[in-house]
Amino acid sequence: MLTDLERKELAQLLFPNIKDTEEYIKQYPKRNLPEGAEVTRFAPSPTGFVHMGGIYMSLISRKLAHQTNGIFILRIEDTDKTREIDKGVEQIIESLNKYGLVPDEGIFPNGEVKGEYGPYMQSQRLDIYKSFAKKLVLEGKAYPCFMSSDELEALRKEQEKLGTRIGYYGKYAKWRDASIEEIKKALEEGKEFVIRLRSNGDFNKRFNFKDLIKGSVTLPENDFDSVLLKSDGYPVYHLAHAIDDHLMQTTTVTRGDEWFSSVPLHKELFETFGWNIPQYAHISPLMKIDEETGTKRKLSKRKDPESNASYYIERGYPIQGIMEYLLNIANSNFYDWRIQNLDKDINDFVLKLDKIHKSGALFDFVKFENICKDVLAKYSAEDIYNEALEWSREFNKEVFEKLSSNKEYCISIFNIERGNGKIRKDISKMEDIQEQLEIFFDDTFNNLEYPELKEGYRDILKRYLKTFNINDDVNTWFEKIKEIAEEFNYAVDRKEYESNPDKYNGNVGDVAMILRIAVTKKTKTPDLYQIIQVLGEDRVRERIEECINR
Ligand code: GLU
Repeated sequence: MLTDLERKELAQLLFPNIKDTEEYIKQYPKRNLPEGAEVTRFAPSPTGFVHMGGIYMSLISRKLAHQTNGIFILRIEDTDKTREIDKGVEQIIESLNKYGLVPDEGIFPNGEVKGEYGPYMQSQRLDIYKSFAKKLVLEGKAYPCFMSSDELEALRKEQEKLGTRIGYYGKYAKWRDASIEEIKKALEEGKEFVIRLRSNGDFNKRFNFKDLIKGSVTLPENDFDSVLLKSDGYPVYHLAHAIDDHLMQTTTVTRGDEWFSSVPLHKELFETFGWNIPQYAHISPLMKIDEETGTKRKLSKRKDPESNASYYIERGYPIQGIMEYLLNIANSNFYDWRIQNLDKDINDFVLKLDKIHKSGALFDFVKFENICKDVLAKYSAEDIYNEALEWSREFNKEVFEKLSSNKEYCISIFNIERGNGKIRKDISKMEDIQEQLEIFFDDTFNNLEYPELKEGYRDILKRYLKTFNINDDVNTWFEKIKEIAEEFNYAVDRKEYESNPDKYNGNVGDVAMILRIAVTKKTKTPDLYQIIQVLGEDRVRERIEECINR
């Protein structure tokens, strides 16, 4: 063990120009928040695209903060510069914005910073980490380790041979009890070093730990002399987590459950600093059923395009639908709540951490799309128009062109089977608008192929044109179709047709189908009468004639 004096000398040697922790601590006064207010954070690393799991975690963290009048922080954990991707930080900020998960504190678009508990970018906090590491060195709770990677590899092999636990701990922690002379010599030789925790833990002892999602468990104490600062002076996650969440006064750490196994180390770190340990909620990853094997597995960054948060934005899924579905995954009672509170805002739903899946919730795409359809079904035609316009401005120039130059016409298209208590549930995302518009514009309509038409269709169409009047109300319009049906020996009564199919050429539905195909080139469409009304007399006549003459 080094003496007090030696430790002082060592701390000065290792961190010559680093301020005392007191200097930093006073920059983080106690937050003035109401009783029970939660401070939570989303703390992503900008190392790849934003995963849907990140959106799910942010939703949970933000909701937890907001339903208790607390604070939701965005902190960027950019301490691994080798893995950072170009525009990684911008993508994170943009995704949160698009998903309506704007933080209360942290980093905002254009690098704007809000909040008094920053910096919120870990790369701008390096001196803070060093200051706390220095404090630990001064107190004999951390030390420099000069082991090279070759030496560490040799240690691993030796431990493997001995059949003992792999790692840097106890008697294997070579630099733990080095003398000041040995350390100075290594420094003079210019050897690279890391700063390690001098663990006090005993692997054979266990402690109780209560995770807000996973419940109570017992875990072995940490006894690894884990690296705290890397040789480049950057902190490892564990150190940065303890310092930041302490200074920022996080009350509940919501994070991916891949960090669960690090809890013993984090507990020891908080204790070593003499700080209260925050509460933890370890969130399990979103899962899916693998198309090939039929088994449940994690939504994979590599294999599943739908794991990417921007996938949903690019296709124009309604944000509210996404949020409703994610809440539904988080708390399965959300669904019942929704049914009982059809008109309430989702912010009124109270999320419970202990109801979140302990081991991986299924992201069921079919269910998800259904929820989006329900959400869009409630939109007015104007709402659909406005959302589609915004979406297409960025993602579909052709649709944007049509929408922006034909506002009224497009609204009348979206109004088909919408409004007046009617529910139109055929689109789950703005991308589907393209297909909806297709039949209403000549350029796209002309590119469609006619499906198969029933024999004799030309005569029926000619006859339709004779009495076609755009001003007919829906009943008159349908009466006329029935008349045509009778004239051409198509049954008007469905039951009658079903009992004597051979007597007829078909039924009235077949007549309507001929008309539908002539007007839309589709066999399945929303209400045909309304389509005809929207298309207008000239266009309908033209299309029917074109079909007759083809
Ligand atoms: N930067 C860590 C990650 O992206 C954050 C973990 C945490 O939320 O503490 O996994």
